[in-house]
Amino acid sequence: MATTTTKTGQPFDRDVLDSLLRRTGFYMPSFEIYGGEKGLFDYGPPLTALQSNFVDLWRKHFVLKEKMLEVDTTIITPEPVFVTSGHVAKFADFMSKDPKTGEIFRTDHLIKQVLGARLKADQDARGKTIEVEKPDEPQKKKKIKDVKIEKLDDAVAQEYNETLAKLDNYDGEGFKQLIEKFEIKGPTSGVDLDPPKPFNLMFQTYIGPSADKPNGYLRPETAQGQFLNFQKLLEFNKQKMPFASASIGKSFRNEISPRQGLLRVREFLMAEIEHYVDPEAGKKHDRFEDIKDTKLTLLNRHTQLAGSEKTEVMTIGEAVANKVVDNETLGYFIVRIQDFLLKLGIDPSKLRFRQHMANEMAHYAADCWDAELYGSYGWIECVGCADRSAYDLTVHMKKTGAPLVVRENLPEPRKFKEYQIELNKKKLGPKFRKDAKAVETAVEELSQDMREKLSLDLKDSGKITIDTPSIGNGKTELEKDLISIEQREVTQHVREYTPNVIEPSFGIGRILYHLLEHTFWTRQSAEATDEPSARNVLSIPPLIAPIKVLIVPLSNHADFKPFLRQLTSTLDDLDIANSIDDSSASIGKRYSRNDELGTPFGITIDFQTVKDKTITLRERDSTKQVRASQEDICHTIEALVRGRETWEQVSKRLPEFTSQEVD
Ligand code: AMP
Repeated sequence: MATTTTKTGQPFDRDVLDSLLRRTGFYMPSFEIYGGEKGLFDYGPPLTALQSNFVDLWRKHFVLKEKMLEVDTTIITPEPVFVTSGHVAKFADFMSKDPKTGEIFRTDHLIKQVLGARLKADQDARGKTIEVEKPDEPQKKKKIKDVKIEKLDDAVAQEYNETLAKLDNYDGEGFKQLIEKFEIKGPTSGVDLDPPKPFNLMFQTYIGPSADKPNGYLRPETAQGQFLNFQKLLEFNKQKMPFASASIGKSFRNEISPRQGLLRVREFLMAEIEHYVDPEAGKKHDRFEDIKDTKLTLLNRHTQLAGSEKTEVMTIGEAVANKVVDNETLGYFIVRIQDFLLKLGIDPSKLRFRQHMANEMAHYAADCWDAELYGSYGWIECVGCADRSAYDLTVHMKKTGAPLVVRENLPEPRKFKEYQIELNKKKLGPKFRKDAKAVETAVEELSQDMREKLSLDLKDSGKITIDTPSIGNGKTELEKDLISIEQREVTQHVREYTPNVIEPSFGIGRILYHLLEHTFWTRQSAEATDEPSARNVLSIPPLIAPIKVLIVPLSNHADFKPFLRQLTSTLDDLDIANSIDDSSASIGKRYSRNDELGTPFGITIDFQTVKDKTITLRERDSTKQVRASQEDICHTIEALVRGRETWEQVSKRLPEFTSQEVD
């Protein structure tokens, strides 16, 4: 477990938070009464409410503010879509099997775990057998036989650290070499592991009753559904560029060894944006000027490749000017992601942006920065921000012929010279038969430079040879009776281009879990002496807290009932989520229970209320109270929840109330 502290500087204890979250019904393993299923969790009422408040804020921050076009596309996706997008061939992680025990590990996680354990052993357990977490079941501590127990050479320890810093950059062959070099064996058997094998992360399925083999997949991201609708969205946007689409929905990944609770699951809610931009205009962004002075903590790819994790703080203006971040649009979204995470209540000192190394990038990406959050599991990717270039639109257009392009009327016609090719189709068909289409496609794809070279070959020798990977030996000869290549002057009135895509992609569960870790702390009661009565608090910001106000009558006295009814109905009318606790527990206990649920405010109704219609308002983090009329308190809560007023301002404006919070 990585070391981390709460906002009051106490060591963070994951077990305490986890038991709180399970006890108060934030989440539970799915299908628990059937024994549960790894990597699947159900959200209970507090986490479901927190998630919907997250989604609401996300919509306001991105979709509404940036005038994005939100869509809701299907999860079930026919196979050809993911064949074309490259997911069938490449959306995979490497796994290593222990031939003796049959255990399967995600290769990079196993290497990380073993090297990490050796470094730990080196530091604090020289000569002793130590216990470390078993990679895919952190809750079960296992003795790992493979841990070197003697002190490591300085050079070896440095090599381990450097390897860990750039582990994400290795592929199957690279992992195999690391396993051999560092003599990594089956963690519980001590035998050699089978060589790492790629495992595709998509869930396959059958669409319809007549399919005799799987013909579809559950989507692993919402992106493809957005790309396939590009043409319609552009039309909806009146052909205006740039613009963005957005989607919130479930995605599915058959993770090799789901672990780390809510962080790595097989079904999760994603919120994704696809921002389409003209590549020729340098991927500039209209509002970059507004955000250019925002500071970010960055970990670039060169630092990682040099085996270090040292971050740098710089403004996004500097980062783009120095080409640390490739372009303004990517930079703009990195800043907007940071703004969103901070608004949500993420601790700024536990946020960094890490650039992907070349081999680590998804098959479609040209550059990628992850927002990583720090917690008891170390630094974890929570938002990916990738420049997917023109990859997806290009491959789908090539496969389907649908014009996934932008056509722009040019203000002035553009004249230029280009090499044009004509094929004699009457002769091509009979000569190449079933391969004729492949020859035609290969010819169409020839670049201008290649066309120039081939036009000279054709003049000199009366024939040319082109690459045709799908035919025979991969080369095809064309005589001059079949093809002509000429340079001609062209006048263009309309420019046609495939937009590039910048994609911020949020995994909501991961962010919410980190929010809970970052806002969790334990209160030491003011009267604490030898035996401090520790109380757990989740300081979730009012804006997204599941319930905003707890209403607590002093007792079950009938005189309080009309006030309860009136208060809850006023708060309901103001759209402020509230709940009543009229149990017989003491007021202090009732408030403590709600501190654990992250409820930021509490109202007490007491005998004074019956006399003068005033009520008290308590703030969760300070436990301070003020007293005022019901109307005043309700409007104060509204201002606090909507972010128009802070508690500091309220406590100066309204008279403090000091008695009544009794354990
Ligand atoms: P990716 O497309 O792999 O960059 O993932 C985008 C985002 O989805 C990540 O930043 C995570 O927040 C989230 N994510 C990916 N895989 C999982 C998973 N197995 N469980 C939960 N969240 C995930």
